[in-house]
Amino acid sequence: MRQPLVIGNWKMNGSSESISALLSGVVAGLGESDGAKVAVCPSFVYIPSVIAQLQGEAIEVGAQNVAEQQSGAFTGEISVAMLKDIGCRYVIVGHSERRALFAESDVQVARKFIQVKDAGLLPVLCVGENLAERESGQALAVIEAQLQAVLTEAGAGCFESAVVAYEPIWAIGTGKTATPEQAQEVHKYVRDFIARESKSTADKLQILYGGSVKAANAAELFAQQDIDGALVGGAALSATEFVTICKATN
Ligand code: PEP
Repeated sequence: MRQPLVIGNWKMNGSSESISALLSGVVAGLGESDGAKVAVCPSFVYIPSVIAQLQGEAIEVGAQNVAEQQSGAFTGEISVAMLKDIGCRYVIVGHSERRALFAESDVQVARKFIQVKDAGLLPVLCVGENLAERESGQALAVIEAQLQAVLTEAGAGCFESAVVAYEPIWAIGTGKTATPEQAQEVHKYVRDFIARESKSTADKLQILYGGSVKAANAAELFAQQDIDGALVGGAALSATEFVTICKATN
């Protein structure tokens, strides 16, 4: 019922040349395969050239971040209207690197989420616990608080036309993946949380797993009932790995 979705987060990597080569590899590797919806999130500066290269392809493009303000005197920021203008479809908000390294608060994340929704683009809201929180049995409470912060700011119905990515911080870029059972437990918790407000929204919501997803572990994660795809970091920088992950959703 839910179409699988795989999003590659290229983070602050690449050059014009390497990104063009990576994209050619992804396009060729995916071929006519239907199944997962696929999107890539390049650094802001490469978004226009990626969109140009993807003309006529089914792959969509997203941004890794967005300003919490609409427009105005915010030097260095990029608004959602600009992202929409150039053809982005998705915007990642609340990635743990933004929360931890750039001190983004739950409220700022919620404001970004609202900007994206209001523009008619799809927010990919990242939630996840750190290692200490998991080890002390706080994982579900942390995730609920992150979801609740968005719900409080954005209001009822806000998860309609949104994507949630569960990304345990201890699994991001570390090579440690949550077991399929650990991930499924959280994904079901997220879906149940949203179902308290609207069962139909919860049933439709694509909940992605992120954290050291690679070709070798993707299929067992995707086999879980509430895992609808992946947000992929490191492995998205290899066309072969990324394409294998996309195809593992079938
Ligand atoms: C990410 O940063 O969103 C991510 C999941 O990274 P990695 O796949 O490298 O763990």
